[in-house]
Amino acid sequence: MKILVLNCGSSSLKYQVIDMDTRNPIAKGLVERIGLEGSVLTHSALARKKEVIKTEIKNHTKAIELVLKQLVDPEYGALKDLKEIYAVGHRVVHGGETFAKSVIINPTVMKALKDCIELAPLHNPPNIAGIKACQKMMPETPQVAVFDTAFHQTISPSSYIYGLPYEFYEKYGIRKYGFHGTSHKYVSQRAAILLKKPIEELKIISCHLGNGASIAAIRGGRSVDTSMGFTPLDGLMMGTRSGALDPAIVTYIMCRENFTVDQMNDFLNNKCGALGVSGISSDFRDIEVAAKQGNNRAQLALDIFDYDVKQYIGAYAAAMGGVDALIFTAGVGENAPNTRASICKNMEFFGIDLDLEKNKVRGEEVDVAKTNSRCRVLVIPTNEELMIALETLELTK
Ligand code: AMP
Repeated sequence: MKILVLNCGSSSLKYQVIDMDTRNPIAKGLVERIGLEGSVLTHSALARKKEVIKTEIKNHTKAIELVLKQLVDPEYGALKDLKEIYAVGHRVVHGGETFAKSVIINPTVMKALKDCIELAPLHNPPNIAGIKACQKMMPETPQVAVFDTAFHQTISPSSYIYGLPYEFYEKYGIRKYGFHGTSHKYVSQRAAILLKKPIEELKIISCHLGNGASIAAIRGGRSVDTSMGFTPLDGLMMGTRSGALDPAIVTYIMCRENFTVDQMNDFLNNKCGALGVSGISSDFRDIEVAAKQGNNRAQLALDIFDYDVKQYIGAYAAAMGGVDALIFTAGVGENAPNTRASICKNMEFFGIDLDLEKNKVRGEEVDVAKTNSRCRVLVIPTNEELMIALETLELTK
């Protein structure tokens, strides 16, 4: 049984066809620069040559048309017929308060998705465009929406309501939503399997540390708190995003720099974070290299990031009354032993005792805590595509 997983961004589209018997992708690819000059599709299928197609791709409908064509291409494809695709799973960034679970898409769901556009004006429109394109080209195939926000719908009002007049929650839906839910859910489920314990009995802190980064406190398999908020700008300092700030800084900078609302949004999302502090790059690999060469600001960016993560671990252990497993995932979490070591340093009093030798691992599922560490420390590569495919199958089979 094969599931197509689609992740539509504003000018990009990532896809995988996953064989649910083996749980592995049999084809995958990326369309970049949709609607811009220089559009390109990079496609690869198992045991076939990689293909790069440069052609005009005006919109998501054209992009999906091209992807579907490549999937059944006799030379480069992975399928004989599109009918082999049992269902399509769409990553949707924002489900607001309407969606606490993945759903099969129908006209009512489409309307609700449109209602969520205000909450994610950059992300939800391309997600909806992708769904519409698939509905047009594969009208018989079930479509499922899997939300980044859904997993965090279990957090309680005391953690999701901000210190604003309550009417702003009622009028505008301003509250913490949280993101990266698909990743946090996947790695926490994997952790339970690795630890051979029912997830219902575990208190887990999941650290999704990539270009975008967030932490989730997961008790009994349910999210009880998370570091991203109303938008994915909140929480940890990230590659290019500021993370949490004293809110007064926003208006102060706008006045001093004469920034419009759009300029301020762009500034906070794209020019701050590790890039802004280091002045070098948003890529943690570049920053690590510079820090090793003695660049103080690069070292400062790493120190801020590690300290931010450490603070959330403390806060979430307090929120859950302890922690049984700490998970590191995503680009930095999976591949940066130094960052993991720095975050876990001096945490033995907390029951977190990292084994520096085991911690040398990159991109593998490994328990890197010392044998007698009370809290297990797990490196678990995330797999959001597989999680989307599993939820899609669950709803459609
Ligand atoms: P993601 O958003 O999950 O794809 O993660 C991307 C981030 O992972 C980039 O900022 C990279 O700097 C970081 N990353 C990938 N490999 C490494 C590595 N070996 N060491 C440190 N950071 C890494």
